Amino acid sequence: MPAGHDDHARMPFQLAFPKDALPEIVVPDAIPNDERLWVPQAENVWFRPLCLNRSQGYWMNLLKVRKSGVVSRHRHPQAVHGLVLKGRWHYLEHDWVATEGAYVFEPPGETHTLVVPDDVEEMITYFQVNGIMYYVDPWGKNLGFEDVFTKIDMCRAHFEAVGLGSDYVGRFIR
Ligand code: FE
Repeated sequence: MPAGHDDHARMPFQLAFPKDALPEIVVPDAIPNDERLWVPQAENVWFRPLCLNRSQGYWMNLLKVRKSGVVSRHRHPQAVHGLVLKGRWHYLEHDWVATEGAYVFEPPGETHTLVVPDDVEEMITYFQVNGIMYYVDPWGKNLGFEDVFTKIDMCRAHFEAVGLGSDYVGRFIR
């Protein structure tokens, strides 16, 4: 509707939301000040959960990798979206570099190993990961996997260990 022709332009939606709709998630400090919110994933690698979507099988998280950290070689059966918030990284399997401010789409079938160059102190990237991360050796032999449920379990154990309580993860689960 053209501007000026809607007398109710600033009137909120007047009806109830669907009764089965899930509550929204609002995380004011997405890049947290409290270091306890970073869940350790590997040496020099952490993730900060934002939405652990068990009903659709994906997770939204910030991935943090410090100098010399590596996210082990893995295959994606579903798409991944990434937005680099800080620092820079690349995959051993590609010749492009993801720099601060870059958006990355990783199509299904990608198998890659994420590394941070030695001259970058820290990188933080916002990732949507769908389905699973299927960890493999250089020839594709499976070494394990992660999905939204293993991520939830990791959060639960970590939040308990750092004193936030295992139920703290609930605010990120939908
Ligand atoms: Fe990946």
